[in-house]
Amino acid sequence: MLEKERHVLVILPHPDDETFGAAGTIATYRSMDVPVTYVCLTLGEMGRAFGNPPFANRENLRDIRKKELFDACEAIGLTDVRLGGFRDKTIEFEEQRYLIDRMKAYIEEVNPSLLIAFYPGHSVHPDHEASARAIVHAVAELPKEQRPTLHLIAFSNDAKEQIGEPDVHRNVAHVVDAKIDALNAHASQTIWIVDWVKEGLQTDDPEVYEWLENEYFYTYDVEKEQLPTW
Ligand SMILES: [Zn+2]
Repeated sequence: MLEKERHVLVILPHPDDETFGAAGTIATYRSMDVPVTYVCLTLGEMGRAFGNPPFANRENLRDIRKKELFDACEAIGLTDVRLGGFRDKTIEFEEQRYLIDRMKAYIEEVNPSLLIAFYPGHSVHPDHEASARAIVHAVAELPKEQRPTLHLIAFSNDAKEQIGEPDVHRNVAHVVDAKIDALNAHASQTIWIVDWVKEGLQTDDPEVYEWLENEYFYTYDVEKEQLPTW
């Protein structure tokens, strides 16, 4: 059973990160009337997927993904969506101090009891890594009593080898429909996965059910972990 949080803050770099990483968890919190704020740092405008068959192009991808983001969030009951205004694929080039301060400002303003983000060193994409680094530093810089619990998403191939099994497992089977709606909303990026999911549901593929119905996070203690360096 999910503990009732005071406020959940989600900070991730791209439209669709929230759907792949935490759609069911977010939908569950919203169904419990827990306030959830999502800061989406970029609009994913440099993405290389344009739909299949393609319906987006380099010029309009930004607008299309922005709309997809809000539609997906609506599907999972997430109404407080903030745009971070960073340029896609450039977060890693931001000045370290600036990035930490921006993350800190979000945390101080929202004052969450739980913060969901990527796991530094295990989140594959440079934007993911840069945001993850800045977030754990931002939390570490806060006075102890202001620090939210950190639940981090890791999906590098060697994550389990390096940091073990995730300690937080959420069964989100009861909100799978909302999760599928969110996936569908991100059509320019997810059409391949949507097809895999559709087929899997028809053939009772256990892999598809496992993926849809479960979400995993690592609790990250900034006191105990060796904080990542730039
Ligand atoms: Zn991403």
